[in-house]
Amino acid sequence: MASGDCVFCGAPVSSQGEHVLPRWLFARWAGQGPFTFFEGSEPIAKRNGKTERDQLARVMLPVCGVDSPSNCNGWLNDSFEVAGKPQVRAVLDACQSITGSAVVDFARWVTKTLLLHDHPLAVNSEIGHLNLPGRNALELPPPGLRGLRHTGQFPEDISVWMAVVDPNGALVTMPEFELAVLPDVHRPDGAGGKCGATTLGLSLPNDLMVTLQLISHPLIDIVHPFEASGQVTRLWPNPPAALDITALPVLDAAGGRALNKWFAVGGASIGLQAGERWPYNTLARYLQPRGGPVVRGAAEAAGA
Ligand SMILES: [Zn+2]
Repeated sequence: MASGDCVFCGAPVSSQGEHVLPRWLFARWAGQGPFTFFEGSEPIAKRNGKTERDQLARVMLPVCGVDSPSNCNGWLNDSFEVAGKPQVRAVLDACQSITGSAVVDFARWVTKTLLLHDHPLAVNSEIGHLNLPGRNALELPPPGLRGLRHTGQFPEDISVWMAVVDPNGALVTMPEFELAVLPDVHRPDGAGGKCGATTLGLSLPNDLMVTLQLISHPLIDIVHPFEASGQVTRLWPNPPAALDITALPVLDAAGGRALNKWFAVGGASIGLQAGERWPYNTLARYLQPRGGPVVRGAAEAAGA
């Protein structure tokens, strides 16, 4: 059950809510596992220790429907599913190249889906309620999803990337990188807030995986360490003019894990001046010498 108030408009939702991953997606992947689910950056293990499943997790979220004046589920369908579904099928099912507005429709669908997938009110069939202590639910600064419903615009400082991973593939050289610890930054005007992240791994034909990654980084400018080399492709903001999944570099298993571990959330709480943002090159970093990780403080990293 995912009853409660609609995450988009606040209307009471008495039903079980709506599937974050639509039914057509389950039909498309029926019998095509295995799937790996992540909580934060960590693959979720079953009781037997394995991290692969035969089925996608079902994720339910309180979203109002036709019995509500705002019918947010109908709005979701009209705004994202109708345009996104054929593009998701083209890219992930048929591995076709898409261009122009089709890429935007694909990117908007992925971004919407990731924003809902780890919402604090989501109930995941694998791990239960996401708002329990210790869970890494994705909390957006206000107005969050209500702002999306009201304006049709995604929140600022949301970044989404995709990568292709071959868990059994040949070793691939990755760029050197330092793990960034994303601080919580705040401004006198109330802007800022906690950072958050979500990752979804889905199967592709030919035993490849696609990893979809969203980071919410209010007031922080971030640079993905694998973007310059093309080993991740930015989907949002600024989706590419064309997207050919067969032409993307393929990461090996270690690269797929590195993708999920180049940053950590929950760094220092930092106050900014009015109008200020926190630039990437002053982020607190983990430095990784051979002896093990050393945590360097935000002030030192910032040169203070
Ligand atoms: Zn609603």
